[in-house]
Amino acid sequence: MIMTDYYEVLGVAKGASQDEIKKGYRKKALQYHPDRNAGDKEAEKKFKEISEAYEVLSDEKKRAMYDRYGADAVHAQAGAGGRGGAHYASMDEAMRTFMGAFGGESIFEQMFGGGGGMGGGHEGYSQQGASKRANITISFEEAVRGVDKELQITNYVVCETCHGKRSTSPSGVKRCTRCHGQGQVFEQRGFFSMSMACPQCHGEGEIVTDPCKTCSGEGRVKAKKRVNVHIPAGVDSGMRLKLAGYGDAAPGGGTPGDLYVYITVEEHEFFHRHGDDILIDLPVTFTEAALGCKKDVPSFSQHVARIHIPEGTQSGKTLRVKGEGFPNIHGSGKGDLLVRVQVETPTNLTERQREILNQFAAVETPANFPKKKGFFDKLKDLFGSSPS
Ligand SMILES: [Zn+2]
Ligand SMILES: [Zn+2]
Repeated sequence: MIMTDYYEVLGVAKGASQDEIKKGYRKKALQYHPDRNAGDKEAEKKFKEISEAYEVLSDEKKRAMYDRYGADAVHAQAGAGGRGGAHYASMDEAMRTFMGAFGGESIFEQMFGGGGGMGGGHEGYSQQGASKRANITISFEEAVRGVDKELQITNYVVCETCHGKRSTSPSGVKRCTRCHGQGQVFEQRGFFSMSMACPQCHGEGEIVTDPCKTCSGEGRVKAKKRVNVHIPAGVDSGMRLKLAGYGDAAPGGGTPGDLYVYITVEEHEFFHRHGDDILIDLPVTFTEAALGCKKDVPSFSQHVARIHIPEGTQSGKTLRVKGEGFPNIHGSGKGDLLVRVQVETPTNLTERQREILNQFAAVETPANFPKKKGFFDKLKDLFGSSPS
């Protein structure tokens, strides 16, 4: 009978550590995985063989027995006597070993390295440039109307000498021998098998042997850049705009990062924001409030908003001017302008004014002050007498 050498099957040395055994298994199992070799009987046989080898060598007890007495002894012990050699019972068993070895990790990710190598023309594992944060403070008016602002940022940009190729000569960039241009290698971390950036090429899949002088082979240089940021009407403090691709250029020509612009809106002396509404306190005299009047209130979309304050308006009454608030940032309509009437009691009275007010007081009736009447009526009910 031809005995299969389990160590050889996994491509590891006789004295290999458990880490090395798992690494070896992973490499081989991925290579011969049925998802990659649909209908290939040879690959299927290999896959079963690899799983069997791993099942034995990953178990120190079985491994010791195998080392001493060979595969038959191991299978006899496991109650599978007579099977011997490298013939796994079924594909299901092989798959179970595979799943068991790699825990809950998605097989898809195992096979394709988390999407890094999927699609597109870039064969290697390309890194993304870093995303950046910038802050912009705008005035209240700018938030209502929207504004374009210019930002100065210092970013990595693609090197113009080598156009991001990192070397000025085409032969100056070599495929990395350690990861074979994949940019990532597989590593055991306890129970899980993880992919990590290749330490030799730092995840770039290539090694630069003749680096570009301008960028020292990085493919990118730091540069000041002006960015025009369109801030839409209706933004509020704490909101964030994303400018896709305005972050750092990636080393080795990958996808650039993004620029996130955080907005701060300055407080206004008179106007206050309430959601999409704008609130303003409007001082009026007590005669204006009593007799009624028309007032012009400054607003943002038109020059002024004319409001009518009806006769007998109380202090604190809020009047609504439709559509004069913030445009909704999500594009549905506009808020209103809320004008809150603040009746100002006159001060610094002249003799004549005092005289007239006294005359007025003499002819006041309870009907002039329904709120006052109601208030004291209620107190009377509570205490049996009124202070008046
Ligand atoms: Zn360069
Ligand atoms: Zn590499």
